[in-house]
Amino acid sequence: MVDALHVGDVRVRRVEEWQGNFLPPSAFFVGFDEADFRRVVEPLTPDYYSPDVDSIYAFLQSWLLEVDGLRVLFDTGAGNDKDRPGIPIFGNLSTPFMERFAATGIRAEQVDVVICSHLHIDHVGWNTRLDAGRWVPTFPNARYLFSAVDREYWDPAGAGARPTEGGAFVNSGVFEDSVQPLLDAGRAELIGDGYRLSESITLQAVPGHTPGHLAMNVRSRGEEAIFVGDVLHHPLQVHYPHWNSPYCEDQPQARVTRRRILDEAADREALLVPAHFGGVHCCRVRRDGEHFIPVLES
Ligand SMILES: [Zn+2]
Repeated sequence: MVDALHVGDVRVRRVEEWQGNFLPPSAFFVGFDEADFRRVVEPLTPDYYSPDVDSIYAFLQSWLLEVDGLRVLFDTGAGNDKDRPGIPIFGNLSTPFMERFAATGIRAEQVDVVICSHLHIDHVGWNTRLDAGRWVPTFPNARYLFSAVDREYWDPAGAGARPTEGGAFVNSGVFEDSVQPLLDAGRAELIGDGYRLSESITLQAVPGHTPGHLAMNVRSRGEEAIFVGDVLHHPLQVHYPHWNSPYCEDQPQARVTRRRILDEAADREALLVPAHFGGVHCCRVRRDGEHFIPVLES
């Protein structure tokens, strides 16, 4: 894929929000090893790694699916006009995301379902837009599906487990401007593991990066794609599933889940569609003994 693909009868299009250098791999990956990095980086250069500035090259992008008579948007980026003191690179953006969305030929009013893989800053932003000083639903007729576990975790008024200190800082302001307005408008539905949206779409719990993270399995005519959000951020984590991002709330669980999803993708020859991959924006997973190899072809 670069901008479009089919999974059986399901049409999928990519709507880009942002791309750029993010962080040096040594700073981004928890568990990074320089020799291991050097061993596999060459074919990932320059689409996934910028050697001149020693930075991973990343994207923010959403996926628009036409499936079972529904128009489904999976993940909504960082959004425009939002104060983000915890991660300024994604604060007060002014991208043409909605113009790119309109170029698909589908209007915001025609989106039936918005699914957020998890409730981090860069997956919920376009849930809302600024209208006369208020945050209003960007997709006014859509049901917004949120993980019930993540809602409880990230809600400043939540009573259960609390975010890590770093997580709370990075995500500050996000719940208030990008999740709460949908709850207030009665447009949110809280879901969890095994939720079946339609004949072709099932959500599964993939905890670790956040406790309520959900992946979307799309199955049609014997083909399968798994939209995995931030279970992995970069092809390097196919080679090295024990490398976490610094934003994984439960670091040991994130490693367990990543390996499970890579096993699943390899066993079933499923296409993995992560949130932030550069290049062709998706991959297949091949086994090599105990290890996995990313197959990065469109
Ligand atoms: Zn993310």
